[in-house]
Amino acid sequence: MRDETKCLHSGYTPKNSEPRVVPIYQSTTYVFDSTKEIGDVFDEPTKALIYSRFANPTVMAVEAKIADLEGGVGAMCTSSGQAASLMAVLNICGAGDSIVSSSKIYGGTINLFAVTLKKYGIECIFVDEDADEETLNKAFKDNTKAVFGETIANPALSVLDIEKFARAAHSHGVPLIVDNTFATPILCKPFEYGADIVIHSTSKYMDGHALQVGGVIVDGGKFDWTNGKFPSLVEPDESYHGISYVENYKESAYITKARMQLMRDFGAYPAANSAFLLNIGLETLAVRMERYCENAMRVAKFFEESEKIESVTYPGLESDKNHALCKKYLKGASGVVTLVINGGKDNAVKFMDSLRLASNEVHVADIRTCVLHPASATHRQLTDEQLVSAGINPGMIRFSVGLENIDDILDDIKQALANV
Ligand SMILES: *Cc1c(COP(=O)(O)O)cnc(C)c1O
Repeated sequence: MRDETKCLHSGYTPKNSEPRVVPIYQSTTYVFDSTKEIGDVFDEPTKALIYSRFANPTVMAVEAKIADLEGGVGAMCTSSGQAASLMAVLNICGAGDSIVSSSKIYGGTINLFAVTLKKYGIECIFVDEDADEETLNKAFKDNTKAVFGETIANPALSVLDIEKFARAAHSHGVPLIVDNTFATPILCKPFEYGADIVIHSTSKYMDGHALQVGGVIVDGGKFDWTNGKFPSLVEPDESYHGISYVENYKESAYITKARMQLMRDFGAYPAANSAFLLNIGLETLAVRMERYCENAMRVAKFFEESEKIESVTYPGLESDKNHALCKKYLKGASGVVTLVINGGKDNAVKFMDSLRLASNEVHVADIRTCVLHPASATHRQLTDEQLVSAGINPGMIRFSVGLENIDDILDDIKQALANV
């Protein structure tokens, strides 16, 4: 199946007389015929459902769909994108370990890596995305267990050179984790370029309608966990009746451990109802991404030509410094454009407050056009230095182009700019 078809049909195939749409299994638990049957399931928990803290049929249908779209061997949904980033790292890192991350990533992830994980003994070494391979290799330590980057960074809109980061990760025997939220598997499939684990905030384009907060971790299934750096995947897990994940679950070792150990213990699993809503978004993902790209390109070109705009960033523009990487890795540059208006922050605020169609909201990738001033909202907690290294100008506006008629979006921009 191609992507458009997978969006509609992967993950759930009803049999004779079963519901056309994946049902909402709003149940915490599952019934067994006997004590023995329950005992058997505890011996092999991947064989049946036990409890909706770590597995539920509605959520699992969505997991199978996303794994198929990304080309992975398995996926696990989480209650937010933040939970996905956290658990993707904790599945292979513990106190005394470190990770290497591109500095151009989502502000919430910077906070998680630089401040919170540090308190738990995991160090994050940030590297510039544009660093040459020699500089990149120098960031690794003996205790480094993973490399992290974002396909299209939110909100810097730089494009990750996935092959370069994968080479550096693999030459040090560690996996590359890619946050593919802004690209979605429709515009880029990071596994094809050497990524090992993909995560998403499904709250964004995958959902698209601003209905649910969620995340997902997808396992590419190709990384060799037996190189000596990842004993927790190879040696018996005493909390899981002595099973070795690699031995028992082969190429699905990573994602099985994430579910059976971390999700069991942390319990950040989404509700069935949220997964149902996410699935509705996924059904139209391929069609929507096409239009987001089309509309955003028109908006980016308009800003590029406007004399009231100091600069515009959109990897789809030929003038953009990431255009070559965009052409290499992406089928389109997605729906977010950032701009800096002449006259700095004051004019930025005037412009944003004058918009009538586009709403001010702390969200992005909504089906409706929305705007945000990152320096005073999502990235408020970052220092000026962190802002610059995350690629954020203090006057920058993040313009998330929606699926309204493009002429209405442009008319709104024009009338708002007239007030500046
Ligand atoms: C929003 C976002 C996150 C965090 O996801 P939540 O669902 O808000 O927890 C992570 N990465 C990127 C790129 C995001 O845009």
